[in-house]
Amino acid sequence: MIGRPMLSYPVYYEQPYLTSLEATVVSLSSKGVILDRTICYPEGGGQSGDIGLVGGCTLVDTTKDDEHTIYHHVENPTFKEGEKVLIELDWKHRYHFMQMHTAQHVASGLLFSEFGIQTVSVHQGQSILTIETDALQIPLETCHLLEDLVNEQILASHAVHYEVHTQASAQELGLRRSIKVEGDGVRLVVVEDVDTIACGGLHVANTREIGLFHYAGQEKIRSHIRLIFAVGETARKMIRTAEAVAAELGTLFSAPLEELVTVATQAVEQAASDKRDLQKAQERIASLELDKRVQKAAMKDGVPVVVWDVDADLSLKDIGLAVLSYPDLALCAAKQDGQRVLWLIALQGRASELLDFPQAKQALLATINAKGGGKSPLYQGAGTGDPEALFSAFRERLA
Ligand SMILES: [Zn+2]
Repeated sequence: MIGRPMLSYPVYYEQPYLTSLEATVVSLSSKGVILDRTICYPEGGGQSGDIGLVGGCTLVDTTKDDEHTIYHHVENPTFKEGEKVLIELDWKHRYHFMQMHTAQHVASGLLFSEFGIQTVSVHQGQSILTIETDALQIPLETCHLLEDLVNEQILASHAVHYEVHTQASAQELGLRRSIKVEGDGVRLVVVEDVDTIACGGLHVANTREIGLFHYAGQEKIRSHIRLIFAVGETARKMIRTAEAVAAELGTLFSAPLEELVTVATQAVEQAASDKRDLQKAQERIASLELDKRVQKAAMKDGVPVVVWDVDADLSLKDIGLAVLSYPDLALCAAKQDGQRVLWLIALQGRASELLDFPQAKQALLATINAKGGGKSPLYQGAGTGDPEALFSAFRERLA
């Protein structure tokens, strides 16, 4: 290393529990800050980069490049090259990832040893851990059995240790997953009595530190099953949130937990049925209201002509539907909708011979600055202004 500065030497492998460390700034660039040594784990292997403070400035992410140089992404750094800075990890964030990572090894190990299911890829998010498997389906009972088995291993307090192997000696162990790194110095993570695998991530020192392992669901990805889990404090929060939601729904539906789904399903179905009934009733009212007006309507060449300033609680769509049951009808209806005026013109049957809407459209719509269209016999749209202006123009055309 003579003549070449140490580039963010990773102290975290030797001391994964170190939460703060003094380091010297080697360089600052748009790619990030390089320190002579660091406790910040860079994003990789399904684990997100560390966050915290560097020299009192916010560290938003840690990454590494292909040459294993670690970059600290610091917001508005106030320090300069050669200065000493204090690294302070967001320990809650880091520890949760160490818990999730260890839990993932235990779960993947048990999935393989107990159920013959291989892990294809893993991801540790802010709140959940996902394991993509090679299985096309995994029954719920298996997922719950796995959850129980992992929790048993947590309670069994297995130590987690590291071994460095040559490529040959690591291959001889016949691990469940092929070794992805080349050359010697293969770092193996051993969850004693449970799982051994090559991994460059950070883990807790004992399975009991995982605390709690919770199966939180599954989804299909590329035709395979991806399992979703929560770990530690996040798992407790997730379970408590689910309980609180279930309790609130129980109160809302006045049902005990075991009947909640049935009662809620019935309520949803009832609401849908009520909505359909309400729609039918509204259509019926629109039809009756139109009929009242048709009975009293002035006639033009044997065709009733209706002009209608519609109340807010009736819908022009329902009125349009009702028009279709008349053999001949000329209708101009409008209603206020906030700042807008909604309009409907219907020229049913012989009414189309009395008024050529496409030809009269521009003059009619100009009365209320309206736009719209449609096809015979129904035309509709929206404008602004006084609907009376449209009604007068319509009456004049049919006079
Ligand atoms: Zn790992």
